Amino acid sequence: MNKDLQIFNNIVNKLLEEEKTNPVTKPIDPEALYKTLDLSLSEEASLEGDFVKNLEKIVLNTPKTATNLFFNQLFGGRNSRAYLGELLAVMLNNSMYTYKVAGPHIGIEKTIIKEIIKLIGFGNKADGTFAAGGSMTIFMAMIMARDAYNLDIVKNGVLNKMVMYTSKESHYSIPKNATFMGIGRNNVRYIKADKHGKMMVSELEKAIKEDLEAGNNPFCINATASTTVMGAFDPIDEIAEMNKKYNLWLHVDGAFGGSVIFSKKYKKLLKGVEKANSFSINAHKMLGTPLSTSMVIVNDKKHLYDSFSNEANYLYQTDGDDLNLGKISLQCGRRNDAFKFWTLWKSVGTSGLEKIVDNHFDLAQASRDYIRNNKDYTLYSFDDSVTICFNYKNIPAKDICNRLYEEATLMVGFGRFDGTEFIRLVCINPENTKEDMMNFFRIMEEFVEKEFDV
Ligand SMILES: *Cc1c(COP(=O)(O)O)cnc(C)c1O
Repeated sequence: MNKDLQIFNNIVNKLLEEEKTNPVTKPIDPEALYKTLDLSLSEEASLEGDFVKNLEKIVLNTPKTATNLFFNQLFGGRNSRAYLGELLAVMLNNSMYTYKVAGPHIGIEKTIIKEIIKLIGFGNKADGTFAAGGSMTIFMAMIMARDAYNLDIVKNGVLNKMVMYTSKESHYSIPKNATFMGIGRNNVRYIKADKHGKMMVSELEKAIKEDLEAGNNPFCINATASTTVMGAFDPIDEIAEMNKKYNLWLHVDGAFGGSVIFSKKYKKLLKGVEKANSFSINAHKMLGTPLSTSMVIVNDKKHLYDSFSNEANYLYQTDGDDLNLGKISLQCGRRNDAFKFWTLWKSVGTSGLEKIVDNHFDLAQASRDYIRNNKDYTLYSFDDSVTICFNYKNIPAKDICNRLYEEATLMVGFGRFDGTEFIRLVCINPENTKEDMMNFFRIMEEFVEKEFDV
C-alpha cells in the first residue's frame, strides 16, 4: 500500500503543477484516443515502470474540472477539506448499510440529515438518506409519492393511470424515473414556465383539473429549486398551496439550488419548502464537495420504510433499524458519501457554507452587471440565479463553446430556453473570485477577436 500511496502522491503533485500551467486539457479526438493512451488490457501483467508512466499520462490527459477555467457543468473546484474526507472514506471503504460495518459514519450521515431537516423546517418525524446522485434522490421521492398514494402498489404494481406534474424546465431524470417506477413517461405533465423560467401555477392547476375530469389519478408535483439551465426557482409556496388543495405529494428538487438553505439572504428562494413532502439536495453542486453528495429528505420516515425496507437475514444481524441505513436505501452496498460533506461542514461551520453560497450569487451578480454594461452582449438571465446565460456579438453560442474547447482555452457549455440558444456560464466553483469571472470574459473576448471573423 505504501508504494501505491507514494505513486498517488507523485501523480497528484504533477497534476496540481500541470493545472497551474495548463488549466484546460487539450481534448483528445475520440478516434485517436486508443493511439494516444494505452488503455488496452491483456493476458500479461504490465511492467511496473510502464504502468506508472501510463497512469500519469492518463491523469494528465483527463479533462480538468477543478480549475478556474472550468465552467462547463454544475460542479467545480476542489475544496481540500472535503477532499480529505473523501480520500479517507476511500481508505476506510465502509458500506453504509449497517452500523456493524460503518460505525461512526452512520452517526455522521445522521447528523448531516438532522441538520438539513432543521434548516428546511421539516418536523421531528422527518428522516432522509444519501443516494448515488440527484437523479436517484428524485427517483426515491417519486417512488415514495407513488406508494403514499396507494401502498397496495408495493405488492401489486401500478394498475391505474397515475400522473405527475413538473415544469417543462425541470430535470430530464423525471421522465426517465417515471418509466422506472412504472407510471410511464407519457404520464408526466410538463407545465409551462414564465419568462423567467419558473413554473406557472395557474397552468399547473389547469392541468390537474383536466386530469381529474378525465378520470386520471394525479399523485405528485415536482417543484424545481434552481432549474438546470436558467437557474430559476419555482414558486414553492404557491405550488405547496396547490398541492394541499388537491392532496398530492410535493417534491422539491433542490439538486442545484437547494443549498440556499444555508444562506440567510437567499433561503427566501425556498419559501414554503417546509410544506413539501420531500426535498433533495446535492452538496456536490453549490457547496463543492466531490461527486456525488446527494441527499433526499422526507417529512415522515414511514415513507422511507414503506418503500425501501426489506428484510435480509444475512445482512441485518445487529442493532436497530435506526442504525442500519440499508433499510431505507435504494441500494444494498452503498459508498460513504457523508464523510466528505461532514469534513467540509465541520471545518468551516454552517456560516462557512453560507459564505460559499452567497459568493456564487455575488459572482453571478457581478457577471450580469458586466454583461449589462457591454453592448456586445445579450443577457437572458435574471437576478437570483447563479447561471448567467448570454450571447456575444450574435455569434452562435455553440460555435464559441466548441471552439474554446477544441483550442483548450476554456470549458463552458451552452443551453436553450424559449427557443434561444446561449452560452451558459455557471457560478459553482467555491474557489472562484470576481477576478476569475472577469478573467472568463477577457479570455473569451480575446479568443473571439482572434478566431472569429466579426
Ligand atoms: C443536476 C441536477 C439534477 C441531477 O443531479 P445528479 O446528481 O447529476 O444526478 C437534478 N435536478 C436538477 C435541477 C439538477 O440541476
